[in-house]
Amino acid sequence: MKRTSKELIVGGIRTDKRLPEQAREIKMKVGNIFSANGSAEVRFGRTVALASVHGPRPLFPRHLQESQTGILRVRYNMAPFSVVDRKPPGPDRRSIELSKVIRLALEPALFLEDYPKATVDGFIEIIQADGSTRVTGINALSLALASAGIPMRDLVAACSIGKVDGTLVVDLNGEEDNNSEADIPFAMMPNKNLVTLLQMDGILTKEELMKLLDMAKKMCKKIYEMQREALLEKYKGEE
Ligand code: UDP
Repeated sequence: MKRTSKELIVGGIRTDKRLPEQAREIKMKVGNIFSANGSAEVRFGRTVALASVHGPRPLFPRHLQESQTGILRVRYNMAPFSVVDRKPPGPDRRSIELSKVIRLALEPALFLEDYPKATVDGFIEIIQADGSTRVTGINALSLALASAGIPMRDLVAACSIGKVDGTLVVDLNGEEDNNSEADIPFAMMPNKNLVTLLQMDGILTKEELMKLLDMAKKMCKKIYEMQREALLEKYKGEE
């Protein structure tokens, strides 16, 4: 819902000088947390997500164990200093929901049945939040899982898409997110062509939705290539 009278798209150009189908500058780095089994940092413009993975490791207390499979646990957290208005520390309804949808977006990529009674723990810390934090977090955690050496069916790549000032756009920033007619966090396994996250806030026609999904798939293929490069960069020369 638009809360500002400001024009967010003027002459086809967005407030941060981007074209509608242009993402912000994306940066990815693998292996920045020495104490983790796997880790990664992903930046979409000013949005910064840091992810770490611990495990697979035995799950305690024992009553939480699943005898036939391992489980993935995900904690998404926004740092108190990640936004201009201080975010009260600790879990809230939003972070609990986001932790769950991020887990559901990543689980299909894992072979958890290979780790009965074990857990894989994934942590996402949002250091700076300027829109699209859950998809940035998914990209980071997917990289962190791969860098932990955990076998995966495919990487999970994610982006946001939406409608701002009547225009269909990719990668919404915070201002666009808060004033959009619709916004959609989207994740997929690009090589499997399987969608693992699709949420929607707002109203779109069927044609708009189909066009946006097409834009999201193209964007996710590009993100996948960057994830691959980031992993190769980390392990270059480590044979
Ligand atoms: N946001 C904020 N304070 C909060 C939660 C969110 O300022 O407590 C901002 C932040 O920039 C975030 C954006 O609102 O990226 C959109 O949040 P949303 O819940 O739609 O999830 P996201 O797009 O980050 O996945």
